[in-house]
Amino acid sequence: MRPELKAPRESSGEPRPASAATAGLTLETPLVDVSRISRDRLAGLHRLGLRSVGDLLRHFPRRFEDQRQRLTLAQLRPGLTATVEVVVAELHPRRARYRHMELLQGEVEDATGRAEVIWFNQPHLRKVLHPGDRITVHGKVVRGTRGIPKIQNPEVERERRTVAQAKVGVLVPTYPETARVTSRWLRALIADLLPLADTASETLPPEVMEKESLLGLAPALRQMHFPEDQEALAQARHRFGFEELFFPQLAALLSRRQRMAKTGTRSPYEVNLAREFVAQLPFSLTDSQRRAAHEILIDLDRPSPMNRLLQGDVGSGKTVVAAMAARMAIAAGHQVVLMAPTEILARQHHETLRSLLAPFDIWPRLLVGSTKAAQRREILGGLAAGADRLLVGTHALIEDDVLLPLLGLCIVDEQHRFGVAQRLRLRDKAAANPDFLSMTATPIPRSLSLTLYGDLDVSQIRELPPNRRRVVTRLVEPASRDQAYQFIREQVAEGRQGFIICPLIEDAPGLEVRSATAEYERLSQEVLPDLRLVLLHGKMPARDKAERMRAFAAGEFDLLVATSVIEVGVDVPNATVIGIEGAERFGLAQLHQFRGRVGRGEHESHCLLFTDDQDPAGRARLQALINHSDGFDLAEIDLRLRGSGDPYGLRQHGFPEMRVGDLLDDGLRERARAAAERVLSRDPDLRDPILRRGIKGYQVVFEFD
Ligand code: ADP
Ligand code: MG
Repeated sequence: MRPELKAPRESSGEPRPASAATAGLTLETPLVDVSRISRDRLAGLHRLGLRSVGDLLRHFPRRFEDQRQRLTLAQLRPGLTATVEVVVAELHPRRARYRHMELLQGEVEDATGRAEVIWFNQPHLRKVLHPGDRITVHGKVVRGTRGIPKIQNPEVERERRTVAQAKVGVLVPTYPETARVTSRWLRALIADLLPLADTASETLPPEVMEKESLLGLAPALRQMHFPEDQEALAQARHRFGFEELFFPQLAALLSRRQRMAKTGTRSPYEVNLAREFVAQLPFSLTDSQRRAAHEILIDLDRPSPMNRLLQGDVGSGKTVVAAMAARMAIAAGHQVVLMAPTEILARQHHETLRSLLAPFDIWPRLLVGSTKAAQRREILGGLAAGADRLLVGTHALIEDDVLLPLLGLCIVDEQHRFGVAQRLRLRDKAAANPDFLSMTATPIPRSLSLTLYGDLDVSQIRELPPNRRRVVTRLVEPASRDQAYQFIREQVAEGRQGFIICPLIEDAPGLEVRSATAEYERLSQEVLPDLRLVLLHGKMPARDKAERMRAFAAGEFDLLVATSVIEVGVDVPNATVIGIEGAERFGLAQLHQFRGRVGRGEHESHCLLFTDDQDPAGRARLQALINHSDGFDLAEIDLRLRGSGDPYGLRQHGFPEMRVGDLLDDGLRERARAAAERVLSRDPDLRDPILRRGIKGYQVVFEFD
């Protein structure tokens, strides 16, 4: 994924004299061939995604410790983030409420006093830490329960810093540790290999380097690991930050430029047809639906292929807009497909399109994994002959034997769940480049969408249909559980229905099914035996799920108990209450999606956030959900509340990780974009092999040749 470091572009004579540590090594040398790395540690490095010496030099420290700022335990105060050198006094492994979550609690001491420590989900620490060990911990200090401070989930360095390491200066790099790779060991290894940074060839073009006054690659690599001072570190970070914002935008702009140069299909904007479509709707369109439809219809009328994203909260009425686009493309003689990520969603779209387009004598076909062979043959025949014009389905519709000779418009729901590869297969079914309309209910703040979706034009629906009510959202503490169940019972007594979402169990979807099943049994036997409950989870066969969903929508059950895999977009207007168990474990975007399942009808709706977590950060997120109802606002808040790791959910979008760059830095992002535009105007096909290498990792998210 990450840009590789290659040997110098122009050979400037002999390579620099290598020290003993780097003899025979280059940046391309696989780590397996570096003799001083044992097999054991090699496995650890591989787990970190590091394969070559070059990768290692781009594995940047998580933070730097300023050696002048060491504290003693007596100096700790709640709210500080501190580094202390301590001795482990006692350790007590614990298991948390959810089985997979491990806690390690204990106390540490130094000459000045004691502190509590607690680690979450770091099982390897249990094996390597023992009372009496001298360790350095770095973490947030909170108020303890035993009259002494408490250090929460600190980073640990197991070995004592020796005098030899004084060579690293005041700013000591600290690397993320894994079971076999300690920060200290990495620091020493990288220090020895760092001279090879001088053989790295520059990845940014000279004119960009100059205009932006960026630090060269080699010195930047050195300063990232062993900075001379804060200023030098800031310059190095600026360079890599710029680079990380430059390449995705360059890739996106290239993709857009190449698309605009292609000829595709046209569907003329027939104003009368649009009016006729709107006139037969049982409601009037919202202003933002109107605007979005207009933008799409203008795109369809252009000869270049459309690539537009339609963003709007669950229930904002995207499908209606998509149906209008389908209507126009079909009137122009094209075939249209709508691809959804799951069978339930595909069925629902099929149903919606059928009722919206029946007045125009357009009859959508449905193709999913469970479609019977005979029926499938019949559908494929109708499509291949061009007689059927509208196909709705799951990825079953990209199979090779699905022929769509007239394909002109592809509508993809929840497009981030499909990759570029699937998209290309769809495109290849068409004779000419078809138009693409992607739909998503995942709100992406504008600051991010410029980069993440830089190759797309975006239409947003930012208002809900007027008959919608705000969903009343509240916390349910353990003590008020019974009241909450009573509330659900009352809703059902009034003829309404509800959902219960079971806790998210990361890394153990198997457990999720078990816990949902257990919750279903507990609720139906002990808590709500008087209600009709139905269970839905991801491990059920698709047919089963579809049948249960249908029965629930038809009112044959009162309460649907589901794992978090329950499909986005499910439309049951009679459902007015949704309870989310372990609410603090979900991201804001997902909670907002869940909440969107209710409030789709005429009745006041409620979202109950079950939680027993007191962590202030988790509370802040739930509070944001209570205070805000707009998905875009919540997405912005989520960005600011989320900490380290993958703060922008980039991996979910298939993006290479951003390690230094900050997508929220508008100024830098705009400079990087301007630089990418300049580069492209000089080299429109991006022939420069160095730049090609820089955008390679983005080929999974942006389409370019
Ligand atoms: P989305 O796909 O954005 O989740 P849908 O298109 O499925 O939303 O619409 C959700 C529900 O709202 C559907 O039942 C639809 O018929 C209805 N709806 C859509 N637009 C409007 C509107 N302008 N006024 C009233 N109801 C609408
Ligand atoms: Mg929908």
